[in-house]
Amino acid sequence: MIKVLIFNEFVHEQTEEKVKAVYPEGIHIALKKALECDDIVIKTATVENCAEVITDEEIAQTDVCIWWGHMAHHKVPDEVADRVVKAVHEGMGIIFLHSSHFSKPFKKLMGTPCALTWRENDDRELVWVCDPSHPITQGIGRFIKLDMEETYGEPFSIPEPDKLLFIGHYEGGEVFRAGCCFKRGNGNIFYFQPGHESYPTYYNKDVIRVIKNAIYWANPIYRNPITCPHVKKPLEDEE
Ligand code: ZN
Repeated sequence: MIKVLIFNEFVHEQTEEKVKAVYPEGIHIALKKALECDDIVIKTATVENCAEVITDEEIAQTDVCIWWGHMAHHKVPDEVADRVVKAVHEGMGIIFLHSSHFSKPFKKLMGTPCALTWRENDDRELVWVCDPSHPITQGIGRFIKLDMEETYGEPFSIPEPDKLLFIGHYEGGEVFRAGCCFKRGNGNIFYFQPGHESYPTYYNKDVIRVIKNAIYWANPIYRNPITCPHVKKPLEDEE
């Protein structure tokens, strides 16, 4: 059983009618309903309760975290962000969605500004598969077609990804590195761009397929704190 924790700040859905109409229960509940299955069990946290929910105990029980944030990044306490980053270094997997490119844990893990260009004008996006042999792209054709998405464009100031899996192309002309794999410490990280709050992106079966594939990919097979031990004796002395 893979234990997944979805963090969604859950602000737009309560303050904007347009967003509430798309995700009446919140993005976290839409994702939970779409992703939960026989071998994936999901808990959720929001910006209101994350200090109480995302504890050391809870994070130790979490195999893969999913993060969605936008307007309330600054309201996530630093100690919560640090707890998440430490868990990734130890081996917890994490999937950052859409505007979480500016979240505290993503920026701490990347160590770069993580900025991009953006525009909201209902552009159609084609999310092109770069590597059809990767576990995360299984079951997807040549591309995912999204009738409307927020336009994200390069330059995206992230470190060079270990693996670029998707390139988004928008009808306005922009391209964007829409699916990127990273490794930090023992933990697997996947950034996936689709998912603006006012569009029904998380009801798209291909988008859900990618996120589900990423859960299996990021699920840790090794999890341990990274230490810096003093090895006093050379190997020969022990034999
Ligand atoms: Zn957005």
